[in-house]
Amino acid sequence: MITDNIKEVEQNITKACLTAGRQEQEVTLIAVSKTKPIEMLLEAYDYGCRNFGENKVQELVHKYEEMPKDIKWHMIGHLQTNKVKYIVDKVALIHSVDSLKLAEEINKEAARHQITVSVLIEVNVAEEESKFGITCDNAKSLITDVAKLPHVKIQGLMTIAPYVENAEKNRQYFEKLRDLSVDIRNENIDNVNMSVLSMGMTGDYQVAVEEGATLVRVGTGIFGERNYQI
Ligand SMILES: *Cc1c(COP(=O)(O)O)cnc(C)c1O
Repeated sequence: MITDNIKEVEQNITKACLTAGRQEQEVTLIAVSKTKPIEMLLEAYDYGCRNFGENKVQELVHKYEEMPKDIKWHMIGHLQTNKVKYIVDKVALIHSVDSLKLAEEINKEAARHQITVSVLIEVNVAEEESKFGITCDNAKSLITDVAKLPHVKIQGLMTIAPYVENAEKNRQYFEKLRDLSVDIRNENIDNVNMSVLSMGMTGDYQVAVEEGATLVRVGTGIFGERNYQI
């Protein structure tokens, strides 16, 4: 079941790459496993998934301990500064940096472990009240400040698009995030890489890939609907 779902998502990514004239190797699928039990993650792992996304610190740490060690864990949810210390040495990429305060805390904990932590800057492209992330207008100044932290490495940008029935409605936001990343790349800021664009979820990942996503975060499309009561 999960295996079939992943195959279908992969085929859709391949199709979107063909449409956009991109190479499928440019796109990495992150299996968003929040709320799902270890057995389901293992099924995805056995199929070949090595990138998993979680949005809660405690759950990420638990699954990190239970699952094989060759997995790349992605922190995709809002991160409180007081919880950075629990995950800083366990994650491959933190997608949700939207303040200097948070970046400074990551830098401090990374220094303690003598590592450099890869991060994305979360941009609220659609400027939805309910969402975290900084605005496009404020992105450049935040990036300039975060770039000065020696134990943090900006690898690109992330956005969560609005929930829509018709994925085409989100194309404008994916385009905007890509344009912003090109703008920032052209600034040639020291210690800033702009190679990653984390955008697209179950409802809109094909459109996101057509607009340049390099990481897509798919939960429901792989593991089925979530039940937050559990
Ligand atoms: C839950 C979540 C996803 C996956 O959402 P689906 O619609 O289930 O694919 C992707 N990104 C973030 C940040 C999430 O919190």
